Amino acid sequence: MSTLERVADDVYAWIQPPGTWWINNAGAVGGADGVVLIDTCATRRRTECFLAAVAEATAARPIRLAVNTHLHGDHTYGNALLPESTVIVAHEQTRTGLLADFLLTATPPIWSPTPDWDITQIRPPTVTMRDNMVLHNGSRRIELHHPGYPAHTLGDVVAWLPAERVLFTGDLLFHQVTPLVFMGSVDGALRSLDWLAGFDAAVTVPGHGPLIPGAELSNVLAAHERYYRFIRDTAAQAGDRSPLDVARDVDLGEFATWPDPERLVLNLHRAHADRTGTTMDLLAAFTDAITWHGGPLHCTA
Ligand SMILES: [Zn+2]
Repeated sequence: MSTLERVADDVYAWIQPPGTWWINNAGAVGGADGVVLIDTCATRRRTECFLAAVAEATAARPIRLAVNTHLHGDHTYGNALLPESTVIVAHEQTRTGLLADFLLTATPPIWSPTPDWDITQIRPPTVTMRDNMVLHNGSRRIELHHPGYPAHTLGDVVAWLPAERVLFTGDLLFHQVTPLVFMGSVDGALRSLDWLAGFDAAVTVPGHGPLIPGAELSNVLAAHERYYRFIRDTAAQAGDRSPLDVARDVDLGEFATWPDPERLVLNLHRAHADRTGTTMDLLAAFTDAITWHGGPLHCTA
């Protein structure tokens, strides 16, 4: 059951359990000038539920702006359902990536069932940034920051409310779900953890999984660090073996209980590509993940 959780005065997090494939978190920041959304959802049904909850909580104030934390469809496909007057803001790499998206209109048989998008076209951001940008909603300040290097993707952006100390991390954090870095960088994802800690957030809204109160954040960051180091060390010991062969021999240990464990294979493909200076073949990586998993990846979207 998805819920709109109030994380500060007139600031909300849309939390969709269990945070697995295509089931993301999003947010809404109210103010005197209307509402600023942080991400949308993957499908029409999920996005409409999110927008209805936001409208109820904000007395249907107009959605002036929407931020996309990165290009992935679970955070962006719902852009198409926003009012025409809503301006969509993201990192320039997010716009570039979305313009090249092929998953929405020609979804390969990776997930079972295939998500019921009920959305027919990509709506890309029309305002882009590289490093930082500040959005003002009445007296409320919403800072957008890019870490400065690839991490979850090439164009990750966090939304930071300095007065309320609320941080929307997008998929730089997956809480209690296997992290995914196959379109970014294992080293960058590792490096981003200290950067995230530096905001000193009172509440952190991860891209997937439950809200993270301030006191829990250091444990969550430490768990991510252990996972990324595990991926990096496993890849470093791979020798000439393929990511799939390496993944078959791996003991996931403490990470075995996290949902979507097959992301191990995708993450090892990324580490392999980075280590060897080669380009990663996304569809080949997914094919290996399906093989490791023993069938299409589980999806409830
Ligand atoms: Zn993502």
